[in-house]
Amino acid sequence: MNVRHSGIGMTSQRTRSRMIERLRSQGIQDEVVLEAISAVPRHIFVDEALASRAYDDVSLPIGHAQTISQPYIVARMIELLRNGGQLNRVLEVGTGCGYQAAVLGQLAFEVYSVERIQPLFKRASISLKEIQARNVILSYADGTMGRPDVAPFNGIIMAAAATHVPRALLEQLALGGRMILPLGTQEQFLTLIERDEQGFHESRLEAVKFVPILTGKA
Ligand code: SAH
Repeated sequence: MNVRHSGIGMTSQRTRSRMIERLRSQGIQDEVVLEAISAVPRHIFVDEALASRAYDDVSLPIGHAQTISQPYIVARMIELLRNGGQLNRVLEVGTGCGYQAAVLGQLAFEVYSVERIQPLFKRASISLKEIQARNVILSYADGTMGRPDVAPFNGIIMAAAATHVPRALLEQLALGGRMILPLGTQEQFLTLIERDEQGFHESRLEAVKFVPILTGKA
């Protein structure tokens, strides 16, 4: 048996169930999202030295000055993105360690995730292969350009904070689609953008704290 899957207590189903109960008490209601989170082994995505904290409600360092988002934020963003419906094709900007992409892979038909830091992209590819997330397709590029080759998307999620909504991403949002991103400079707010025949509708939600989006590859 692979060491990283072995029965050290922190990886047990009980530890994961506790995380799900905590998310429920924090207000996450979408059972499909809770089920997806409970299906993904979060410790696979963090450094072995931090594995004992993988199921705590904290963000953890993943190297290169980046972090894996705390479970509550991952759950909240996906709950907002899904809005109780079926997600077909989803774009994530900022793969990081690949955890959120893996959760998205549980409830969407296809997930395209883009990362600009090559070692993170490589490490995420290995982790996603390990959990056999076959419908999650990664690429190493500047994600603010989106993936015009496979657009449009029913859902777009940005895992790093932007000061404005990248135009390319708006163009790649399908009619009836939803985009969720942390937006702002000094203060950031989770922002929902919905697209319909009339155009784009923006709603400002709770205050959040994300690493900034950067342009170009690294
Ligand atoms: N969803 C991630 C959280 C990643 S943190 C997880 O589950 O671990 C934000 C990530 O966005 C970082 O890895 C950072 O390198 C990446 N990022 C920042 N700007 C980017 C850009 N322009 N294109 C692609 N990725 C970007």
